[in-house]
Amino acid sequence: MTYGGIEAGGTKWVCAIGGGPDDLRDIVTFPTTTPAQTIARAAEFFANDGSVAAVGIGSFGPIDIRPGSRTWGHITTTPKPGWAHTDVAPSLAKALDLPVAFDTDVNAAALGEHRWGAARGIDTFCYITVGTGIGGGGMSNGRLMHGLLHPEFGHMRVPHDRRRDPFDGICPYHGDCLEGLASGEAIRARWGLAGEESVDEHIWHVEAEYLALGLVNVICVLSPERIVIGGGVMKQPQLLPLVRKRVTELLAGYIDALPFDRNLDDYLVPPALGDRSGVIGSLELARNYLAL
Ligand code: ZN
Repeated sequence: MTYGGIEAGGTKWVCAIGGGPDDLRDIVTFPTTTPAQTIARAAEFFANDGSVAAVGIGSFGPIDIRPGSRTWGHITTTPKPGWAHTDVAPSLAKALDLPVAFDTDVNAAALGEHRWGAARGIDTFCYITVGTGIGGGGMSNGRLMHGLLHPEFGHMRVPHDRRRDPFDGICPYHGDCLEGLASGEAIRARWGLAGEESVDEHIWHVEAEYLALGLVNVICVLSPERIVIGGGVMKQPQLLPLVRKRVTELLAGYIDALPFDRNLDDYLVPPALGDRSGVIGSLELARNYLAL
């Protein structure tokens, strides 16, 4: 069977047709413009192919994934201009007359990494992305993390020592939440446009400190057996080793489990599917939806 997958991001949408990472028949990327235009473009891509049995969408959020909700399939309170309270999944389902599955971009990526990537065989793990924003999802005992809505790792509060770092943070809701302090947008706002590409060690020590504080919260609350961490900011090669070191220091030997004896090299890992975890995971969302 052939599926459609969409990684619906705030800056671009990636759409794919196929069954998995080794069976990608077509893939296309286009910028996120207005909701109507963007959804129409995705619908046209799948309609032209004609073989897709269902479409999975991994979307930026926050989104409504509550079964039976009147606004299921909508993006809700996003600060992205024009996209707040937007009908995404029902519109696409109607345009294509196909079943459409809907979840967060990070849960879709987690699903992709679980089926084909760095979380194979692990049923309690997290997938975190540090890019323009910060997001997180994952599985608990083999099920994608849902609940009140869905996890919002990026908006957790972390200690912020204003004497060391007077930056106010850029989250329009919270100022200095994790995303407000450590997202790619925060790096650019704090250090200037080239911040994200800079090799200045100080920038990456500050970044690693906030990410480690967030990861320690995640480890203590959810007890993941592995954390897959990707996104544009994590491409800075010095960052992941700094984060691993700082997480170990902050946990201070309290968590007595095997991965913590090995410098976290097998515990805090990059996504095996690279930049495609989200779109490939969205194919799997579609497959799972039909299998229900
Ligand atoms: Zn926030």
